[in-house]
Amino acid sequence: MIANIPHAPLLGRNTFGIDATARELIEYDSVDDLRSLAPMREPFIHIGGGSNLLFAGDCGTTLLHSRIFGVDVIDDRGDYVTVRAGAAVVWDDFVGWAVASRLAGVENLSLIPGETGSAAVQNIGAYGSEVKDVIDSVDTVDMLTGETRRFTKEECGYGYRRSVFKRSDMKRYVITHVTMRLSRRFTPNLSYGALRELTESMTMSPSLSDMRHIVIRMRRSKLPDPATLGNAGSFFTNPIVDRDTAARLKAEYPSMPQYAADDGGVKLSAGWMIERAGWKGRTVGHAGVYDRQALVIVNHGGATGDEVIAVARAVISDVEKMFGVTLTPEVNIIMNSRTSSCSN
Ligand SMILES: Cc1cc2nc3c(=O)[nH]c(=O)nc-3n(C[C@H](O)[C@H](O)[C@H](O)COP(=O)(O)OP(=O)(O)OC[C@H]3O[C@@H](n4cnc5c(N)ncnc54)[C@H](O)[C@@H]3O)c2cc1C
Repeated sequence: MIANIPHAPLLGRNTFGIDATARELIEYDSVDDLRSLAPMREPFIHIGGGSNLLFAGDCGTTLLHSRIFGVDVIDDRGDYVTVRAGAAVVWDDFVGWAVASRLAGVENLSLIPGETGSAAVQNIGAYGSEVKDVIDSVDTVDMLTGETRRFTKEECGYGYRRSVFKRSDMKRYVITHVTMRLSRRFTPNLSYGALRELTESMTMSPSLSDMRHIVIRMRRSKLPDPATLGNAGSFFTNPIVDRDTAARLKAEYPSMPQYAADDGGVKLSAGWMIERAGWKGRTVGHAGVYDRQALVIVNHGGATGDEVIAVARAVISDVEKMFGVTLTPEVNIIMNSRTSSCSN
């Protein structure tokens, strides 16, 4: 079935709590329903749970949203189990199901908001894990032709919070299912320092469900709950710079945290720089930087998308002036437009 909702209210569809409307929202139940909407010649934006979106204002473009649910075991042999989840499955429900089924690989990604299809777009990550570590392939529909296409993990082009699906020329592909390979053997991933410290006092190595509960407890203590304080998690990605830039910054700021990045570059802590630039806990109008985690921009109540963007711009400008490093939003900003220029 296909549901077409004109002038759709978006307040309940974005965790920032921005009160905006979309010209039209189309929800579909199956791959066939989605294919029947092709060819979509007008620009569209596919949304998930809205936990990584910022609506600058009312959206003049058609929004699509999946209602493809279900998790199927498609291969079960030896140590590995291959499962295929519908794009609309709530990510943390999937993690809960995997842990209850004694399948390892996604437990460190517990409680990340949003849906499974978006998890594969964003390459979500936390506490030393990324979803790409378990992804086998991603099924899509090309909304220009209506054809289905399977992307292997390699074709997904995964990197830090990056995939081919984030490229503007690839927005034509809507994810319908994500296939993941989980393990029957569990070895706790304690590569993240704070997680390791929390488990050090335990008399036994943490079980799979211990890990899920520890991660959930840690996240609740650090991050604002969007139900009470609107936000979209980390507003910026951690910038990756070349070694010379990293060395220059280290000489000037000896306490600056730096980490080796995959591609030979050096990853900096955006939160640390934002805090040093004096933004932690600072509020402008109805929006501001969270007082317990400088990477998060929050809506203190009634903020417009433009107010949040103004805070983000001021943060970028001050960090640039102080460190010479340009922060990039992780959040997908959807500009307000009544025409085809509305894009994310
Ligand atoms: C409190 C909080 C904590 C967070 N913590 C983390 C964290 O630890 N790690 C992390 O990585 N992220 C984190 N996030 C960000 C967010 O949860 C993830 O980015 C999540 O994957 C977004 O899922 P969503 O369903 O809400 O997607 P949306 O925000 O609705 O969309 C995200 C992107 O995916 C695209 N998209 C959605 N569905 C589809 C589809 N079916 N096909 C094609 N494209 C699609 C959208 O166009 C958009 O570009 C956090 C957010 C919050 C609010």
